[in-house]
Amino acid sequence: MAAEITETMKFTQADLSKEILKAVDKMGFSDMTPVQAQTLPLMMEGRDIIAIAPTGTGKTCAFGIPMLEYVNLKDKRVQELVLAPTRELSLQIMDELRELARFIPGVKIACIYGGQPIAKQITALKQNPQIIVATPGRLLDHMERGNIRLDGVHTMVLDEADEMLNMGFVKDVTKIIEATPIERQLVMFSATTNQDVMTIAWKYQHEPTEVIIPATKENRPHIVQYTIETQRENKYEHLLYLLDSDVYQRVMVFVNTKDMTQRLCKRLQDAGYEADCLHGDMRQSARNQVMQSYRKGKFQILLATDVAARGIDVDDVEAVINYDLPNENEYYLHRIGRTGRAKKHGVAFTLLTFSESVRFDAILKYIMANPVPLKFNDLGILTLDSGEPFFENI
Ligand code: ADP
Ligand code: MG
Repeated sequence: MAAEITETMKFTQADLSKEILKAVDKMGFSDMTPVQAQTLPLMMEGRDIIAIAPTGTGKTCAFGIPMLEYVNLKDKRVQELVLAPTRELSLQIMDELRELARFIPGVKIACIYGGQPIAKQITALKQNPQIIVATPGRLLDHMERGNIRLDGVHTMVLDEADEMLNMGFVKDVTKIIEATPIERQLVMFSATTNQDVMTIAWKYQHEPTEVIIPATKENRPHIVQYTIETQRENKYEHLLYLLDSDVYQRVMVFVNTKDMTQRLCKRLQDAGYEADCLHGDMRQSARNQVMQSYRKGKFQILLATDVAARGIDVDDVEAVINYDLPNENEYYLHRIGRTGRAKKHGVAFTLLTFSESVRFDAILKYIMANPVPLKFNDLGILTLDSGEPFFENI
């Protein structure tokens, strides 16, 4: 059996500039996560990479640090490009890059995504950013209008690659890759992989190195998963029971449709809960505002469709509640991955009607997990299998 590499590597042991080390220190990190320890040196060597690592394991810094080490402040062209599937994720990546770049004056990072006025983005592009974080559709739009050229790109990152390609961006992503120089470095980061990722790798990467970080005890987010047997007509009441437990200060509730997200949000607000929602039909400015207030802890409960499930990093989400079971199996993992981030502990509850529980069995096979079953007893108290109450204070 191959010996497991369990060494931890400190950022200070890597060949990094003092500006980056200062920024990393300021962000409060000292040890690299496994995906960082493995991909950082490869990326600094200029290798093409496919990195698959569980959510919450620090993939953004894994590609962000090498990007900032290699930015040439004298070159006014766009040199580095990150593509991400959603607006929220793009903004979040930009924020993290800006934090890393805090001590490197002169680095300009622009974020280009659909939903924001084109004119505002043109202004940002005219400042000659060296780094662009973008969603594929809008970037292509700018390329076609002649607002942006990619012939100076030396590093290109596809974050949440499989998701992006899943969302029907294959053509757009392909066009964008083809607008960059053929010798550019292309790296893909994701929690899971799929056929489209492999196709892109095969077509556009040069002898890529595959880095696969399994979900081990050490790097797996600490998420305890629970299922709750329920009936459709009792879901709302059971949701309130969890919210009323007063155990969780920051909660995310996932719902399958925009309509239901909105209705549930209104209902909770009317009942006096601090809740807000996030879904794809909202204006971008409104979405940003909600994310910002939630991050700052201005309200307790965020209701969201799967738009918010991937990649979004909010510290201290203590509990994720699946009000509905996601329609696609993979989303279960992405949803619950919103908690237990950065080695904190989190819990995930999934409310299951009978028909959902049948579907959930398939998901469990896929993720190889064993959630703890809970149910409400005749007195309406949530209990463990043993009959003991789940929350001590109720
Ligand atoms: P992923 O993309 O793998 O889902 P993120 O890049 O969003 O993960 O990082 C998850 C969280 O971990 C973020 O809050 C990030 O700031 C934090 N983080 C990143 N690198 C480290 C590290 N070396 N040590 C501790 N926390 C880290
Ligand atoms: Mg990520």
